[in-house]
Amino acid sequence: MRFATKAVHVGSETDQDAAGSVNAPISYSVTFDQNRQKERFEYSRTGNPTRLALERNLAALERGKYALAFASGLAAETTLMTVLKAGDHIVCMDDVYGGTYRLFTQVFANFGMKFTFVDARDPAAVKKAIRKSTRMLWLESPSNPLMKIVDLRALGELARSAGILSVVDNTFASPALQNPLRLGIDVVVHSTTKYLGGHSDILGGAIVTSRDDVHERLRFSQNALGGVPSPMDCFLTLRGIKTLAVRMERHCANAKRIAEFLAGHPAVKRVLYPGLPKHPGHDLAKRQMSGFGGMLSFTLKDPAMAVKVLRRVKVIIRGESLGAVESLIEHPATMTHASIPKGLRKAGGITDGLLRISAGIEDIDDLVEDLGQALGGR
Ligand SMILES: *Cc1c(COP(=O)(O)O)cnc(C)c1O
Repeated sequence: MRFATKAVHVGSETDQDAAGSVNAPISYSVTFDQNRQKERFEYSRTGNPTRLALERNLAALERGKYALAFASGLAAETTLMTVLKAGDHIVCMDDVYGGTYRLFTQVFANFGMKFTFVDARDPAAVKKAIRKSTRMLWLESPSNPLMKIVDLRALGELARSAGILSVVDNTFASPALQNPLRLGIDVVVHSTTKYLGGHSDILGGAIVTSRDDVHERLRFSQNALGGVPSPMDCFLTLRGIKTLAVRMERHCANAKRIAEFLAGHPAVKRVLYPGLPKHPGHDLAKRQMSGFGGMLSFTLKDPAMAVKVLRRVKVIIRGESLGAVESLIEHPATMTHASIPKGLRKAGGITDGLLRISAGIEDIDDLVEDLGQALGGR
């Protein structure tokens, strides 16, 4: 089956209620009669029918053997870190989701884990950062919010030859545009809150892998830590996924048009969108993604204008999050990435004049008009 077909059918075909339902039933039972069925379900934290339907779907979309669903992207990340222990060293991409940075530096660092942040666009820099105690390489591509593209195949190979686990946060691309496991990456994590759910109405996370050892450990941790999604969360995520393929086409088309509009606007200094031929990661993105995605960032010539643009938008919503049907605009320096220390943030390129857009699926002319009036003039 091809992607769009899997998105609609896998997990929903189980017909657990024997009624011919075309959707997975929302199974709210916490415990299961062990005389009536013996194998699959015991207690809902350990395993739940609706969650299993979602997990089967997620594994199929990422072309992995196994998937585990969680209550949020950060619950998935927290659980994933239990493959490590005190003293372990992690090499992490320098431009990661603000919450990932906060989790690593303000939670797991307290448990004795060590982190080095590097610009993973340069595989030599990653190689140099690897020590004897390194156990994990954590990547994002495209990255948040600077839209850096890193070579997943090369970095997966580097990690494998060094004997360390490679992880990609694939939230920005979604499985519709990029399958890191196919490029040799060990583990994919998602905030399913974003493109997979797709409607800004459900929080969720996922881990997908084809490695038996990693999955076994994580399945244990999913139950031991308990950060699982509710059956309704799972149902809504599955429902969102059914339209992922068509939504993604529109997200990509709208983002491209917005990027082109901004690139030609006199108030704009630079547009960061991998779909623009001028983007340094354009060729690489073309090779490892099947579309350039719905996310873009841009810097204004006058940084003081950023706040004004945010106040003036009428169709595009000023808000955090991404990947949903409505277009969103935000200011990383004061919103999504405020938890990164100012010096580090600026040195990394998250300046005060930087704005990030998640292109929704609205009519493109309304979006471009709205940005035009928000930027003043034209
Ligand atoms: C939102 C996000 C997360 C965290 O997911 P939550 O569902 O909000 O916990 C992780 N990584 C990326 C890239 C994200 O955008």
